[in-house]
Order: sequence, then C-alpha cells, then structure tokens
Amino acid sequence: MIKSVRGTRDLLPPETALWNFVESAVRDVFRAYNFQEIRTPIFEETALFARSVGEETDIVAKEMYTWEDRGRAASEKGQSLTLRPEATAGIVRAYIEHKLGDRGLNKLYCIGPMFRRERPQKGRYRQFYQIDAEVIGPPSAGSESPARDAEILEMLATLLDRLGITDWDLELNSVGCANDRAAFNEALRKALEPVVGRMCVDCQRRAVTNPLRVFDCKVPEDQPIIEKLPRISQFLDEPCRQHFEKVQAIVQAVGVPFTLNDRLVRGLDYYTRTAFEFTHGALGAQNAILGGGRYDGLSESLGGPAAPGIGFAIGEDRLVMSLKESAEGVVRKPDVYIAPLGAGTNPEAARLARELRHHDLVVELGDESFRLKKSFEVATKAGAKYILIVGENEVKADAFALKNLATGEQVSVPRADLPRQIGQN
Ligand code: AMP
Repeated sequence: MIKSVRGTRDLLPPETALWNFVESAVRDVFRAYNFQEIRTPIFEETALFARSVGEETDIVAKEMYTWEDRGRAASEKGQSLTLRPEATAGIVRAYIEHKLGDRGLNKLYCIGPMFRRERPQKGRYRQFYQIDAEVIGPPSAGSESPARDAEILEMLATLLDRLGITDWDLELNSVGCANDRAAFNEALRKALEPVVGRMCVDCQRRAVTNPLRVFDCKVPEDQPIIEKLPRISQFLDEPCRQHFEKVQAIVQAVGVPFTLNDRLVRGLDYYTRTAFEFTHGALGAQNAILGGGRYDGLSESLGGPAAPGIGFAIGEDRLVMSLKESAEGVVRKPDVYIAPLGAGTNPEAARLARELRHHDLVVELGDESFRLKKSFEVATKAGAKYILIVGENEVKADAFALKNLATGEQVSVPRADLPRQIGQN
C-alpha cells in the first residue's frame, strides 16, 4: 500500500474546518490593516534562497528540496530549482520583478505550503503551512518606520486574541544592522575562542561560519556558556537603538505585552533590527507559533532597489494545534437532510434542495432508493438538524413532513414556509 511520504500528512475533515476557521479570521483581520493577498510559485531558483536565507543557515545547508530541472534540449544543462522553504524570499523577488515599489508601501500576505527536510516530530513537518505577511516599500513610503513594526506586532496580538489563543508570549529583540553585526560577530568570535572546544559540534561549526547562530543552540550543557556570551543589545548603534526604543514605545502604548530577549536572533540571515517570536506554552518543545522581523537590506542583496521591510511567518499547523475550539465545534453541520421516499421522488427532492440552498442553508440530499429507516440513520449520522420527507403525498399537497431530529417534533410545512422554518433554531 502506498502511504503519504514521511513528514507530510493529509488534512482531513472535520479538522479542515479548523483550518478554514483560522484562514477566514486571518483574512478578516489582515483586511482591517489593509493587507492584500499575493500568491507566488511554490518553487523558485535555488539561488534565490541561497542568497536571501543564507548559505550558512540550517535551512539552506541541510533542509531544502532541491533538484536539477531538465533543460529544454537534451544537451542543455538544467536549472537548479527548490521547493520554497519560506515565503519572504519569493515575495521580495516578486516585489523586485514587478517593480511593486512604484506603488509605494506594499502590505502583502500569502497562505500556503513550505517545505523543509527536518526531522519530523509533533508540530514539525516536511510540508507545513505558513501564513506570511510582509510590509515592504521604498524608504520614502515610510517602510523603515518603527510604526510599521509596531503595527504588525499589534495585528498579530489581535489575530491571536480573535482566534481565542490567549496565553501567548511575545519576545522582542533588535539584531541591529550590518555594522552592529560585524562588531558583534567579532566580539562573539573572541568570546567563543577559549570555550568553543567544550560546546556541541554544531556550535563548533557555527563559531567558525556564523557565530550568531550559537544562540539557536538548544543543547542544555551549552547553555551556561551561551549565557555568558556578549549580547547584541550591547552593540546596537544609535539609530538602531532609537528605532528599537520607538517600536517598544508604540507597542506599549497600544497595550500589547512583551518581554525583551536579547538571545533571540532567528534562524535566517536576512534579518535586521526588530526580531520577534510569539510562543505558546501548550505546544511543548516546538512552542514557536510564529516568528518574524525586519529585513532592510534583503531587496538590495537580491539586486533590487532599497526596500526596507518587515514581515512574519505563522506556522499554521501549530496555530491550529493551539486552538481551543474542536473541529466538531466549528464545522457547519447540515441544517436539513432531505429524504426522497419512493420511486420517482428524486427530482422533486432535488428541486427542494436547490431552493433551500439558495437560502444559504446547508442541505444534504438522500436518494429515493433508501427506506425511511435508512434515511433517518444517515441524517442522524450527518448531524442534520431536521429531516424533510419528500413522499408522493407530500409532493401532491406541496407540504412536507419536517422532523426535528433532536426533539422528535414533527410538523407539516407548506413549501413556501420551509426556508424560514428550517432556518430558525
Ligand atoms: P521560520 O520561517 O523558521 O521563522 O518559521 C516560522 C514559523 O513556522 C515557526 O514559528 C513555526 O510555527 C513554523 N514552522 C517552521 N518550521 C516548521 C516545520 N517544519 N513544521 C511545522 N511548522 C514549522
């Protein structure tokens, strides 16, 4: 038997109702902040991710699904393509390609699958879904303003509240700009030199390639060493420090609680200044629901114009896991099950179903070959509120037996009254 591939999974009903619930709340909330949807391809040239996410990151070094596409002619060398491991790179590529900066400030979001070859575990998949939003534009459009950072953080708090996820924590940091990072990296390298021999193999590699990544280490024995390392907060230049203070002042003013965490550096290379993560304790080891930050130099590093930006990616799989609602609670059950009774009643039943569906009712339709007992069983199993019997006599009278499946109460209802009668609880 062929099964789904390791690290992938099928999302089945009724759980998909929770995904729809999340996505419609997302679209509602994002609309209020004037975001619009963008859909980019799920695969791109490999170079896009190598240059934006960073060669030294785990994602690019170990986790990408990359293949060489066939060239057009047999002799032609193929292009290296990669399934997107994250959304920002593709969106910034689209921003550059379509000169979206000419429109001023862009507020874009996208919802879709991402692919990383990570070790699968609860809350970690190889195909997972992200809800991603980006605010990007030319500096003249105010894209650098701390007001944009704060607006995004407040929007996320609003979204989580709206979804009924209350016990989240927001951790905030500034990772500074390229200048600060150069000085910080230097200091880190120095501080790591005498101690790195006692650290895990990953940290030993990071100490050479990208010392900042040491802060991602989860190995318990390394933590006392990491605690004593210099922090980025001590290296922020004046503009970065002020930017960060302004972000905090606005977030405080709008009443969104946060904690400062100067160990938070985030896994991708392109981040500058504000970096943040929302966590949710109930999720266990993989407790990050979403992460994001500023990436002021990303467009330029991809050959585009100056286009400061800030964005985030919500792990939709984890967001759904954090919901208090049950799938059964949000799924919309049939308002009515129509049971045609006896040969030749299917057409009339179909006509009734069509009429009732026009009234925005959820209608399940049976088949004339079912005996009444079977229709009742199927209607009950489907969770319908009412069963509507369409027999020969009912068709003649143009009035139908309507039975409330919860109370057992049965009435005969003239055709014209059916929508109102079924629509009320
Ligand atoms: P990142 O793009 O790594 O900053 O991730 C943003 C969010 O996506 C994380 O906070 C997680 O909620 C989610 N995420 C990342 N990797 C995975 C994965 N392999 N499986 C499920 N969710 C993930």
